[in-house]
Amino acid sequence: MGAGQAGLATAAALIARGMEPQRDFVVIDRSPRAQRAWSERWPSMRLLSNAEHSSFPRRPLEGDPYRHPTPGDIENYLHRFEAELGIDPVWGVRAVAVTRYGTGPTLCLKTTIGEVQTRNIVCATGAAARPRFPEWAADVEVEGVQMHTNAYRTREQIPHGRVLIVGGGNAGVEVAFDLANSHDVTLAVRSGGTEVQARRFPTHPRFSPWRRRNVAQEPPYDALRNRGVRIRDATTGAQGTEFTFSDGSRQTYQSVVFATGYVAGDEWLPTLPQLQRRIPTVTALPGLFVAGIPTHSHAKANTLPGVWTDATRIARFIHARP
Ligand SMILES: Cc1cc2nc3c(=O)[nH]c(=O)nc-3n(C[C@H](O)[C@H](O)[C@H](O)COP(=O)(O)OP(=O)(O)OC[C@H]3O[C@@H](n4cnc5c(N)ncnc54)[C@H](O)[C@@H]3O)c2cc1C
Repeated sequence: MGAGQAGLATAAALIARGMEPQRDFVVIDRSPRAQRAWSERWPSMRLLSNAEHSSFPRRPLEGDPYRHPTPGDIENYLHRFEAELGIDPVWGVRAVAVTRYGTGPTLCLKTTIGEVQTRNIVCATGAAARPRFPEWAADVEVEGVQMHTNAYRTREQIPHGRVLIVGGGNAGVEVAFDLANSHDVTLAVRSGGTEVQARRFPTHPRFSPWRRRNVAQEPPYDALRNRGVRIRDATTGAQGTEFTFSDGSRQTYQSVVFATGYVAGDEWLPTLPQLQRRIPTVTALPGLFVAGIPTHSHAKANTLPGVWTDATRIARFIHARP
């Protein structure tokens, strides 16, 4: 389930084990428009990892390996990979639940178009399937727009006026850069304005450490301050147009963008304790596996190179199942 990079990597690993797409397995995705998550990200976004670190093993992205690819680059890359593998996904079908038939080896997958019996199911429905909002988001009622970065595409979506971006991670920083020239932007960050993470991989491995220091980008919060963005403490609540911050201050804003992360698309899996995990990707329900979701696997499972490990492990288990 899921035709993103995790689903395609799993398909490739199954093919490498001699299985034939559309005969021995099928890839299904809920997207009604046959579009992957990458095509829904804002066009000005650049991947954190450079092209060299943003592909499956031995299948490099075309073009300069040291550039930071766009979401479109990855979308095209996955589209080509899908065609190369001969995968013809079934689009517009969502997984709803999975159960086991009695004590036998068969699983029952409930979907939006009915139920199907199958021996193996791979959940590849993404670590960032739905936007996450803070609890107080329900109390926000601004005059402009309120949206999650998930819905952000261009600065034209945000009316002029004061904009609060809640969350100083990579998504919040990217949107703040995009809005800095056209809007009055405040970025609310949990760390109290101190840089918490390196934003990008080193650009060019051939550079000496000295040279890399010299080509290293300006820390993003400093760069944002230099463009007029205010960096302030975490937002702790809201009432209408007024927001409160962890230092006790209050301020009104016309629009708010929540850069507050995502929730995994694993809500259709059985709930704990049935899903006790002994081996990464392998669940306690025989025949049910999870690819690409770090909480079910390893920290880098949601990256292009990282999901390959999940995929090859899952294919090995499926191939070896009696
Ligand atoms: C803002 C952002 C920036 C990122 N930047 C980088 C980066 O720079 N470098 C990097 O390596 N990674 C990055 N990632 C992480 C990761 O590479 C992407 O999230 C990637 O899309 C994950 O691929 P996936 O196949 O695991 O999940 P997805 O691409 O989300 O694919 C899951 C698929 O499952 C489908 N689906 C969901 N629920 C169901 C269901 N119930 N039934 C059927 N189908 C379903 C969805 O339609 C989707 O097509 C970023 C993530 C985000 C959110």
